[in-house]
Amino acid sequence: MDDFLQLDELLSTEEKMLRDSLRRMIDAEVLPIIANAYECAEFPENLIPKIAELGLLGMTLPVEYGGAGASKTAYGLACQELERGDSGLRSFVSVQNSLSMFPIYAYGTEAQKKHWLPLMARGEVIGCFGLTEPDSGSDPASMRTTARKVSGGWQLNGTKMWISNANIAHIAIVWAKTDEGIRGFIVDKAAEGFSQNVIHHKMSLRASDTGELVFDNCFITDDAYLPGTEHGLAAALNCLSQARYGIAWGAMGAAQASLFAVQLLG
Ligand SMILES: Cc1cc2nc3c(=O)[nH]c(=O)nc-3n(C[C@H](O)[C@H](O)[C@H](O)COP(=O)(O)OP(=O)(O)OC[C@H]3O[C@@H](n4cnc5c(N)ncnc54)[C@H](O)[C@@H]3O)c2cc1C
Repeated sequence: MDDFLQLDELLSTEEKMLRDSLRRMIDAEVLPIIANAYECAEFPENLIPKIAELGLLGMTLPVEYGGAGASKTAYGLACQELERGDSGLRSFVSVQNSLSMFPIYAYGTEAQKKHWLPLMARGEVIGCFGLTEPDSGSDPASMRTTARKVSGGWQLNGTKMWISNANIAHIAIVWAKTDEGIRGFIVDKAAEGFSQNVIHHKMSLRASDTGELVFDNCFITDDAYLPGTEHGLAAALNCLSQARYGIAWGAMGAAQASLFAVQLLG
């Protein structure tokens, strides 16, 4: 791959080794199957154990929570290589890292962190992030989903739309309006009154799982509440800022793939 900006010399030996081993994995295991996955609009779930094995889930989190303790640059390089394979793969890793593990790490209790993060780092539990709604996208403060305090927990009502990993996820980080403002919750897929629907016929990100989350008098226990989200929407927006970092690196990978395709055409 051409290094037009001579960025390689800025990378550590470990960062280059990680990028190169991921590059080999993408070439061997992603490029041969991804065109079909894109055509069939299917996320290649069979790659999740491999992605976890390479330490790409919870990559920058401390080792004590199952993370790899890697540098932000190493994470960026991983996003670049993943997106060179397909935007859906980078999107999967962004959602697991920045939008699911990060809010638990940043806003969760010690018990929530110890329970969920190692499982998520191993790819045994997949997360999704429910902020957007059918009538609330660019302006998430206008969300209608509510979380009402009830005895022993919370009752969720509302719908989240365009949610990456919605159907493959075991848990959802859900943002909802309470009497005190917007708060975040960890909602288990098994919670009563919680269902997911696939969004079909996308024109882009076709190899990514996208869906709708529906909460119909969904009861979750008190330990689902993320106490660090007491500052409201700022917590959700901070997660999006984390995700944007990986997406920016991913755009470089998409550009590399485009350049390679043009070179192939001669
Ligand atoms: C494939 C995919 C995956 C996604 N994954 C997730 C996810 O995992 N979790 C999640 O919560 N969300 C997710 N989203 C939702 C995404 O974050 C929203 O699409 C985004 O916030 C924009 O919201 P919207 O689609 O409702 O567009 P709108 O808010 O309706 O905006 C439509 C257009 O109007 C413009 N616009 C809006 N308001 C203004 C204004 N005041 N002034 C000028 N222009 C304006 C926008 O820039 C945009 O061009 C995903 C979306 C897609 C397509």
